[in-house]
Amino acid sequence: MFYRDTWVEVDLDRIRHNVTNIKRHSGFEHLFAVVKANAYGHGDLQVARAALDAGADMLSVAFLDEALHLRRAIKDVPILVMGPIRPADLAVAAEQDIHVTAHDLQWLEAVLGYSGKAVNLHLKIDTGMHRIGLTDAASVARACAMIDSNPCLLRTGLFTHFATADAATRDGYDSQVRRLEALTAGIDLAEFRYVHLSNSAALLRFGRQSMANAGRLGISMYGLPPSHEFELPFELQQAFSLHSRITQIKTLDPGSAVSYGATFVAGERIRVGVMPIGYADGWLRYHQGRQVEINGALYPIVGRICMDQCMVQIDDRVHLGDQVDLINDSLTVEAAARDLDTIGYEIVCSISDRVPRVYKQGGRVVGERNERFRPDVEGE
Ligand SMILES: *Cc1c(COP(=O)(O)O)cnc(C)c1O
Repeated sequence: MFYRDTWVEVDLDRIRHNVTNIKRHSGFEHLFAVVKANAYGHGDLQVARAALDAGADMLSVAFLDEALHLRRAIKDVPILVMGPIRPADLAVAAEQDIHVTAHDLQWLEAVLGYSGKAVNLHLKIDTGMHRIGLTDAASVARACAMIDSNPCLLRTGLFTHFATADAATRDGYDSQVRRLEALTAGIDLAEFRYVHLSNSAALLRFGRQSMANAGRLGISMYGLPPSHEFELPFELQQAFSLHSRITQIKTLDPGSAVSYGATFVAGERIRVGVMPIGYADGWLRYHQGRQVEINGALYPIVGRICMDQCMVQIDDRVHLGDQVDLINDSLTVEAAARDLDTIGYEIVCSISDRVPRVYKQGGRVVGERNERFRPDVEGE
């Protein structure tokens, strides 16, 4: 149910296609579907279900809130929070069977007295990203000993994260793998049920590492390339598209300005269409001047993008109510990212939850998600 003419379409068949191919190509026994940030703006539950259906067997997110949201609907699948949680929240995670990241000794000190339902911990090793994680072999050994000293803490996983798996050369990747070997030389990796190193770029490029049995699949599951520095081993299919409709058409005389700041002035008599999408939807002001597609032809966005609306210069082939494609198979997420000097991740994550998501499968609409009308929050 939604009451505006702007929506995102997510093609779940494409997510399945991407997961199936990456799983086969990478050769891992286990695959985490990374569905943080509402599945990179696509919708966490819907993407999680499609990914699990296609061969992923675990989920991962950045924050405990995100994991708890998934857990309300998805019961029997491991969900890992890859970022640090507050020590005080460990019992909440344990109760809901959420796997938690143990990222440093201070954090482990703080949870060492925990008693309650046993909680699955994944040791995070910093091998060169210099974000979170244990940084030396003595700390890794000490962390293992601390976990083993408390029967309510389970040593379930071990992981690291690559900083440059998407770079032109593989040197950074290789040095992080060697660093992981060095930092874990004193412990038995076979004692961990899950050892996972790879993000999308590493999964696509390097396949399985001998010490790992799992990978974490994010951006490429959505069909977006992690980088242009390397050739994809097979075609990824972009699942995300963004659409709106023309809500008013007017003809402007030469000299007429469009939108705030009068940054666009008609040089001749022109037709302008209005669309109900703006920067509060994540269609940022930087998109001014970008082309959109209407009935197969391209037209430019003119004038400043407003909070809720923006204008497009059209011709007489465009009519009131016509569909406008802002992102589709030819106006790709990647092209938008390149134009804005950013990455595809940021484009899809930016489309806000004010925009309803529509899910397609087998060419048919199979579901909808509108955060303004969520049955699970209504009445709360
Ligand atoms: C976000 C994230 C991923 C997924 O990375 P992609 O490049 O999207 O595949 C994997 N691991 C960690 C720790 C992450 O934060």
